[in-house]
Amino acid sequence: MEIQCECGTFRAELTGFPKNTPGRFFCYCDDCQTYMHFLDRADLMDEAGGCEIVPVYPSEMKFTQGSESLKCVRLSSKGLYRWTTTCCKTPILNTSPGMPWLGVASRVYTVKDPTFLQRTLGEVRCRIEGRFARGTPPPGTSEKATFKDFLKLIPFLLKGVIKRKGRNSPFFKSDGKTPIVTPYVLTIEERNAIRTRLGFQKK
Ligand SMILES: [Zn+2]
Ligand SMILES: [Zn+2]
Repeated sequence: MEIQCECGTFRAELTGFPKNTPGRFFCYCDDCQTYMHFLDRADLMDEAGGCEIVPVYPSEMKFTQGSESLKCVRLSSKGLYRWTTTCCKTPILNTSPGMPWLGVASRVYTVKDPTFLQRTLGEVRCRIEGRFARGTPPPGTSEKATFKDFLKLIPFLLKGVIKRKGRNSPFFKSDGKTPIVTPYVLTIEERNAIRTRLGFQKK
């Protein structure tokens, strides 16, 4: 399975897809929305400000071309490492060093075929952080994230820890914690300007 940015410069191979993915998830949180607005890619969210991700393991992604187009963005110095491309500003994924987690943005699966995720994985499994949604999120969206929501990810995360699937992430150097490019960290002013525009409290 190959994923790609919108213009096709960046491409990567997923060696465990769809077997090892827990499926489709939507996050409506303030950070995901802030990030998408920072990229100027609000067009990729749903009407309620939800971002769709389909997680995979770091050890199961290999870059095939265009990794020099990758850019790393953090909303703060403690934030997730969120990756995008300089060629076409496609959101690629979020991750954290050592975690068996790449939260891959739906867009990189659907550039060639908008129906790909629906055909391959079926319905969305879980929608969280509806308290930050614009207007009313789809039925079944959790206000925050419930234990029931978390249960849908536990098997994936446990297997990932046991099988050390967080190792050898192509997004970090061999020490496992230094990102392959220096992250761009938003200034507090930059972050709060977007948050205020979206009606979120400053932080
Ligand atoms: Zn591109
Ligand atoms: Zn989020």
